Amino acid sequence: MKNKKVVVGLSIDTLLEERWLKDRDLFKVAVERLGAEIEVQAANGDDAKQIAQAENMISQGVDVLVVVPHNAEVSAAIVDKAHKAGIKVMSYDRLIVNSDVDLYVSFDNEKAGELQAKAIVAKAPKGNYVLIEGADTDNNAHMFKNGQMAILKPLIEKGDIHIVFDQSTKEWKPANALANMETALRANRNQIDAVVAANDATAGGVIQALAAEHLAGIIPVSGQDAELAAAQRIVEGTQTMTVYKPIAKLAEKAAELAVRMARGEIIQADRKVNNKKMDVPSILLEPIAVDKFNIDDTIIADGFHKKAEVYKNV
Ligand code: BGC
Repeated sequence: MKNKKVVVGLSIDTLLEERWLKDRDLFKVAVERLGAEIEVQAANGDDAKQIAQAENMISQGVDVLVVVPHNAEVSAAIVDKAHKAGIKVMSYDRLIVNSDVDLYVSFDNEKAGELQAKAIVAKAPKGNYVLIEGADTDNNAHMFKNGQMAILKPLIEKGDIHIVFDQSTKEWKPANALANMETALRANRNQIDAVVAANDATAGGVIQALAAEHLAGIIPVSGQDAELAAAQRIVEGTQTMTVYKPIAKLAEKAAELAVRMARGEIIQADRKVNNKKMDVPSILLEPIAVDKFNIDDTIIADGFHKKAEVYKNV
């Protein structure tokens, strides 16, 4: 086993969003640098397809399966099938719930939610809040919300903050976030002081709805992922912050651990995250809050985006 070339299977929800393309590319490079082979399959949001693709990789004999689940619950079937074939499974970025998944490698997602709420509270310590959450089917969306509520709850109890609208965003799609934000504005006659949006894609939809009411840049909006469009909005002043998650670090760590799992090593993990069935051994990296003041020292200094691109419109 030790001398055989290891094959890592990556089953990824979608490649239709900027961040997952980065994850795929960086993970592939990292796996190959370790002398292993990689097989990648993307399901583009289709649960049945993700399971079929994973089954295919299992029957082709990959040595370990790394999964970015589209649906946290449904993907438990992948873990069962892999285990029956003696293959270990790593949950990458998103947790597979109600399963015996072997390892979870991600960012500290509750912390990401805390960073979002903290940044927005600093801008709007009181008033009417709108929560535009992620896809209900993604466990991360719930973790982001838990983190946000840890910050917001005491202020809600104090009477400083009122949640006037709280909606998840189907499939994390900007168009759905836009429609939800339009509803929130209408229902509250534009009397909104802050928006906690779960990621940059949803923030984009929110800001489009605000712009139509001439409120972009006036109402603080959070985000996540440090997507290029979001970085541009931050320097332009229409988005308050993003949560930068250095994907290179995640991809490299996950690649190293996947190859070790494939070789039969037991991985020591310092954290545990409950997935409704068990405490999953977890490795959680630190997310970083980015606003216009530290954007140069974080995402630009890291080469995540080029300065000329970020500042293109200002
Ligand atoms: C990821 C985010 C991403 C979102 C939508 C989440 O699980 O953690 O980084 O923006 O999915 O793809």
